[in-house]
Amino acid sequence: MYQLAISCARGRMLSPLRNTLISTLRRLPVRSASTTIIQDERINDFTVENEPLLGYLPGSPEREELQKAISKYEGTQTDVPIMIGDQEHRTDLVRHQVMPHCHSHSIAQFYYATPELVQKAIDVAVAARPAWERVPLSQKFDIWLKAADLMAGKYRQALNATTMLGQSKTVIQAEIDSAAELVDFLRFNALYAKEGMKWQPRSPEPAATVNKLRLRGMEGFVAAVSPFNFTAIGGNLAYTPAMMGNAVLWKPSDTAVLSNYVIYQIMREAGVPGEAVSFLPADGPVFGDAITASPHLAAINFTGSVPTFQRLWGQVGNNLAKYRSFPKLVGECGGKNYHLIHPSADPESAANGTVRSAFEYCGQKCSACSRAYVPESLWPEIKERMVTTLKTLKTGDPRQFDSFMGAVIDATAFKRISGYVQHAKTSPNLTILAGGKCDDSVGYFVEPTVVVTTDPHDRIMREEIFGPVLSVYVYPDAAVDDMIGLANDSTPYALTGAIFASDRAWLAKAADALKDSAGNFYINDKSTGSVVAQQPFGGARMSGTNDKAGGVHYALKWTSPQAVKETMVPLKDVKYPYMG
Ligand code: NAD
Repeated sequence: MYQLAISCARGRMLSPLRNTLISTLRRLPVRSASTTIIQDERINDFTVENEPLLGYLPGSPEREELQKAISKYEGTQTDVPIMIGDQEHRTDLVRHQVMPHCHSHSIAQFYYATPELVQKAIDVAVAARPAWERVPLSQKFDIWLKAADLMAGKYRQALNATTMLGQSKTVIQAEIDSAAELVDFLRFNALYAKEGMKWQPRSPEPAATVNKLRLRGMEGFVAAVSPFNFTAIGGNLAYTPAMMGNAVLWKPSDTAVLSNYVIYQIMREAGVPGEAVSFLPADGPVFGDAITASPHLAAINFTGSVPTFQRLWGQVGNNLAKYRSFPKLVGECGGKNYHLIHPSADPESAANGTVRSAFEYCGQKCSACSRAYVPESLWPEIKERMVTTLKTLKTGDPRQFDSFMGAVIDATAFKRISGYVQHAKTSPNLTILAGGKCDDSVGYFVEPTVVVTTDPHDRIMREEIFGPVLSVYVYPDAAVDDMIGLANDSTPYALTGAIFASDRAWLAKAADALKDSAGNFYINDKSTGSVVAQQPFGGARMSGTNDKAGGVHYALKWTSPQAVKETMVPLKDVKYPYMG
């Protein structure tokens, strides 16, 4: 009889059956949970907090240490090998990472992986994955937490210095990225994965049936393809899948190779085996072609531009019949982020927030404000404040601590951004209000530039520039609700957006109408500055798959869970009692 009850356990059990089951089970030798085949993993409990930012005031120990690290890395050209397993590789395809603010100065020599080396890394990953996957998650969390401590302490200034020199970040921009955000990613992803393991399926009659969910790494390999603009993103894209038991091929950006290699070295020191993550600088398309051609591709974890992600997605689609599993595609892409300022807004806060959002790190944050809608009534004050402030902000070498902005990343970016500045200079719809100078003689410097447009649909208001160019459309106050439509519809992106007002009824209305316009939405705050575990990050539409890096679910996405049901009592009959 109890067999029937167990077979029906997914439905509501009739109480006489249930009573029979219970009395029968009482007569059976009861197996405790400790005798089940799939055991719960013992995880040391831990909790984490966001890594505090250091101040770098003159005379502070962190400033002194940072200066020493800068001297070390600027005074030498670091050799960065390709790392596959424990093996270093070098090819004839020699490349250099230069300082964007002084492009005659190379800080790293690296080598592009050939298609054969990418294939070798795939083979190593596929072979290593089962053993790495079986290392208990608790041990992996210990490694990740140890790595985070190394990054927060001993190697903090190595990460900051290489990010400042190689990616032209100022002190504070490096500190929030390569120190705090990276450390937060490691710690919070471990925390959230640990918490996620607690969500086990129900076992209504544990003496009869035990249900478990195993968080497995995926079969095959994961390709992590990272951008130049956040050192922390590289670490997150490669090492969160690795923490969850995947074998990873990490392709860093050419213009972030050195800081990314420092991450790789720290993770090795903390205990990540070489086979778990290979470090493969490579020409983008060479890497993309090789990974998408492999039947073992389990997932791509990408952050970068829309065209690159579209190309990778297209290749996966074309190769779909080849794969052993359907590859998981996670991509975080570009934005054309807006600040929509209502006539009731505080003009000082709106102006300051817009300057910070548009120009910190040269507007090269994917969340940077690139278009602003400002009411006529507030425009004189906001214009005055922005222009006056910009006059006080220095664009220069980030090694000079009074610089607010460094250089843009490379010659390609300089050409693209100066092209938009040129467009502003020549278009009758556009007026340059501040900035407008571009000079690449020493470094790739572009002044913070504010452009006013009379056409809210000009391409400068629609296309991602990814540089220090802010476009402003000044609207008649009575047309404020039309601006909601423009903020929502005039670009293909939906990454970040901000509304500024003191009129709370309007804020509520706009927040509702703009619900689909941004994955990260700000009220009376600038559109940049998301913090791990506080504002999980990502957008939809052409801005990406919105998988929310820094959020509670991110780590679990990198698993292929297995549901296991273990039944403790034998099945004695095929027929059901009602059959007579
Ligand atoms: P990118 O697309 O040029 O490069 C990103 C990475 O892809 C690099 O490692 C590059 O070498 C590689 N790549 C290029 N072609 C490839 C190919 N065919 N196959 C495989 N890999 C290839 O982007 P970028 O200039 O490094 O980064 C800037 C872009 O990233 C901007 O659009 C920005 O908005 C976006 N971004 C988005 C987020 C987000 O979270 N949404 C975060 C940071 C940056």
